[in-house]
Amino acid sequence: MLPPVSNKLIAHVDMNSYFASVEQQANPTLRGKPLGVCAYLHKHGCVIAASIEAKKLGMKVGMTMAESRKICPSAVFVQNDPPKYRAVTSRVFSILHELTDRVEHYSIDEAFLDLTGWYRDPAEAAWALMRARWRIANEVGEWLRCSIGIAPTRFLAKTASDFEKPNGFTVIDQDNLDEILSQLDLEDVCGIGPRIRRRLERTGIRTLLELKRYPVANLMRLFGKYGFFLWCKLHGMEFEKVQTAEELPPKSIGHSYCVPDRVTREGKVMAVLTRLTERAGRRMRQQGLLAGTVSVVVGFRGMFQNKTIGFSTPISDGVSDFLHLSEPAQDSFTLVGAACDLLREMWQGERVNFLAVTFSNLTPPSQQHRLPLSHSLIRANERISKTERQKSISNAVDLVRDRYGDEAIMLGAMFGSEGEAPDRIGFRKTEGVEILSQN
Ligand SMILES: [Mg+2]
Repeated sequence: MLPPVSNKLIAHVDMNSYFASVEQQANPTLRGKPLGVCAYLHKHGCVIAASIEAKKLGMKVGMTMAESRKICPSAVFVQNDPPKYRAVTSRVFSILHELTDRVEHYSIDEAFLDLTGWYRDPAEAAWALMRARWRIANEVGEWLRCSIGIAPTRFLAKTASDFEKPNGFTVIDQDNLDEILSQLDLEDVCGIGPRIRRRLERTGIRTLLELKRYPVANLMRLFGKYGFFLWCKLHGMEFEKVQTAEELPPKSIGHSYCVPDRVTREGKVMAVLTRLTERAGRRMRQQGLLAGTVSVVVGFRGMFQNKTIGFSTPISDGVSDFLHLSEPAQDSFTLVGAACDLLREMWQGERVNFLAVTFSNLTPPSQQHRLPLSHSLIRANERISKTERQKSISNAVDLVRDRYGDEAIMLGAMFGSEGEAPDRIGFRKTEGVEILSQN
């Protein structure tokens, strides 16, 4: 059975050329200039954001600094500054939070708003959002621009905000849906890439409108479930709701640390990694989640540090590796064991300047245990009881720490790492962005 066509009022707000605009806001001498924000200032450093002026000259995200210099010799480059962007995001989002109680912080520069119930129709919602945009320019910074889309679903709201950039404002409703879709390229919507496009074109589908009008049964024969969802999305049927921070489980939880040289000298690299793993593990247990994957990043001294937004990941300069756990886990023993195994594979005693551990594929606990097929039932039961024991020890340790502080009880492997890797707020794409003026 088909889901009903949505009659909700959803908005998508997407800040334009965000990091570059924030830099131009903060530094008036950069305004109106082609500007590239780089992961780090070096000819091999990648541009992670280009200003509107730079985009016009052909600078693209992902180019190296040397490549973009060739295309626009007048370009200015700055190194990215995540705390600055997070501070501006929190001020922008706090304005959006005044429109509705349901705001999803989708990324550092994008938010979905469920305005259903708060505004009578798209026109009233559009008026409120125009005012919010005016407030962003007046109260946060005149150089900050955003594209806004209003539609009955998340998918169409995102399509609407992508329709015009920068500073666009597009409303999609059932009346103009077909007209908008007829102007869009197949690859303009999220999820259609060159491969799917070729298959669609082979059946004679060239525009999104033709795709919408194609019989759903035929699409399902071509693409299975994906064809069904795509068809429903184009018809304005809703599958994904706007999810506020409380409803949205984090995608990953981790902890990183710029390691001072003394740690390697004193032979405490493993101890510091154990501490990082314990800290991140504890946060994950507090949220009642289990990790399916553990990854570790090691940066070596004498290399450049690539600071991407929010989380320092020296991908090209350090080494990173991950491990899928045979079963999702949250206890210290499994997590520390996995992280230390990964480190031992990657590190042979070099001087370390950066360590990070991340848990991902996070899931809430299920009551079912997967029984390994190769083991007899009795051995599987023994294994489960060992897992159960480790889980209860971890939980008991957390309880002691809740009561007597983080240093009250330590794993033996953490000895010597006292004082290293202090706690701090963890963040997902936008976690750690505090919303001002709320409550
Ligand atoms: Mg954006």
